[in-house]
Amino acid sequence: MPDSAGGLGQGGGRVGPELPQSLSGGVVRSVLVHPDPMLRELCQPSGYLPGPDLRRLAADLLATMYAAGGRGLAAPQIGVMRRAFVMDAGWKQGRPAPLVMLDPEILFYSDQVELAEERCLSIPDRPVTVPRPAEIVLAWYDTEGRHQNRRLAGAEARIAQHEADHLDGRLILDFLP
Ligand SMILES: [Zn+2]
Repeated sequence: MPDSAGGLGQGGGRVGPELPQSLSGGVVRSVLVHPDPMLRELCQPSGYLPGPDLRRLAADLLATMYAAGGRGLAAPQIGVMRRAFVMDAGWKQGRPAPLVMLDPEILFYSDQVELAEERCLSIPDRPVTVPRPAEIVLAWYDTEGRHQNRRLAGAEARIAQHEADHLDGRLILDFLP
């Protein structure tokens, strides 16, 4: 079953939280599964794509992430080789916080490293324990072209690092001993 996302649309009903209008209406796309070679490619900047294309990409990523039951999804996982990802660390606990990160860049890593098990929608049923810096500062552009940065900790820091890895073709399997 390479396309685990496809069967979860629940008759076209929306999965996940209410989204701002500019990010709603996304299409649930197929999630590429390892060892698809696209998952190993270096993604290109997304910044010069037209705004409507970026908003469509963001909406599709969010719709696909929620439909697949994930907390993060990177553009290459739906076959779009651009530096973009979405995440929502809290929606499964009823605290939705959707974020769209375009051309993200990690500006700071804490010295403190934590170990935790991660899962990847592109590597079904294969959790891997991954060491990650506990806190990061992430800079990115949002879909309105605004440059943002934020200190992330806990699950948000871990998800952002996992998704940023996807943009460089890196997978959690690379952390296996
Ligand atoms: Zn992943």
